[in-house]
Amino acid sequence: MLYEKIDEKEKKAQERFFIKFLNFIALDNLLKGRIGYAMVTGMSQKVDLVAICLKRVFTEEKKVKALLLTQTHGLVWVYSSIAGKARQRLELLTPGVLGSFSLRIQKAHQAVFYQGEVIESFFHLKQDYTKIEVYQKILYHIDQTQWQKKDLKNLFALIVFCFRALAFQDPKAVEAIFLIKLLMHEGVLGLELRCVECGCMLKHTYRLGGEVFCHQHALPGSKMYSMQEEQVIYHLAMTRNKQEVFKKEVSQSLLDKLQFCFSIALTS
Ligand SMILES: [Zn+2]
Repeated sequence: MLYEKIDEKEKKAQERFFIKFLNFIALDNLLKGRIGYAMVTGMSQKVDLVAICLKRVFTEEKKVKALLLTQTHGLVWVYSSIAGKARQRLELLTPGVLGSFSLRIQKAHQAVFYQGEVIESFFHLKQDYTKIEVYQKILYHIDQTQWQKKDLKNLFALIVFCFRALAFQDPKAVEAIFLIKLLMHEGVLGLELRCVECGCMLKHTYRLGGEVFCHQHALPGSKMYSMQEEQVIYHLAMTRNKQEVFKKEVSQSLLDKLQFCFSIALTS
């Protein structure tokens, strides 16, 4: 019900957007000053967007559809022919590529792609198996947990940040930051060291999804987190500085627990 209301509000906002026919979108400073713009011209509903390709599916011979995560329009499915010269578009419609896309909107969250250019292909990440794994998990998690009409602007910035950080930071830390920030974004990560059931203060916690419990009220299957692990979670959740956030080490066992917590909270 709440989502329906949000959708209705967003629909009206989008209608205003189309009527105005010109709208400027300032990109997050993570995009290092690049400015994207969107222009919708009357009937044609032509729009230029900055987006990350999440996945690509070959539908029939010489045709492809791709799911884009856009800064301003949430998730958008785009359709394209890949015959002849259009084959070059495949480079842009590749999962993980950040690009500027010229689209012709057909209906809500569906568009025909006709041209664009690669901003960043994150090619360096594809040279290392551990990095590829994290990179693919990020794309997969976004695809699994988000829905089309949701405002994904902050998430878009988070993904670009994580992809860039993967080039020179510990992949475990990058993945942990991504999981924790996404749990925060969804409002399902408790950070107070107090049992949500009885309110007692805790020296170590039990989590199944994002909520915190004491030993007595822990749900079956919960994992125990030490005080040190909770401190790392708090640090990753609350630190906004892009260098500071990497100052606490993420152990493999903490990452395993966070993956489990994430799967219960958001994808089960
Ligand atoms: Zn309790």
